[in-house]
Amino acid sequence: MTAAAAPLADDLRLLYQEIILDHGKSPRNFRVVEHHTCKAQGNNPMCGDRVTVTARVSPAGLVEDVAFEGKGCAISIASASMMTETLSGQPVEIARKLSAAVQDLCTGRLETDQAKAAVGGALDDGVEKLAALSGVRQFPVRVKCATLPWHALMSCLDGKGQTTTEK
Ligand code: ZN
Repeated sequence: MTAAAAPLADDLRLLYQEIILDHGKSPRNFRVVEHHTCKAQGNNPMCGDRVTVTARVSPAGLVEDVAFEGKGCAISIASASMMTETLSGQPVEIARKLSAAVQDLCTGRLETDQAKAAVGGALDDGVEKLAALSGVRQFPVRVKCATLPWHALMSCLDGKGQTTTEK
């Protein structure tokens, strides 16, 4: 799927690196959600990443707050940080769609615009930022780092406590 390099490819790569480094160094929502309604741990033994996601979902199905704690490489932490930033206040339904779209972005099944459409246009800015993770598609081992927090989030929302990318 790698077409001829667009003129801006290098700039874009730099921007993506910056976003990942920024979130990796100063992760947002690195905490436990107070009065959380679900909690799940994700484990990526390939890299040693571990994240615990907590969320508070309202009876109406709104993700009122979502946060994470853990240890891992810059990609896993940046992915978790962007995830919590993007999904706070969003309906669970959108969280599920975004999760699927991010996994498709990371594996190369979707490009940014397709991912935006897959989420229904509700989170274009968020998808734009999360596209920074799409660089991992060239490194299959890293895909698991990027998708780990999303697996954990889905386990959390599904009421399962544990998840691993080793499947
Ligand atoms: Zn990792």
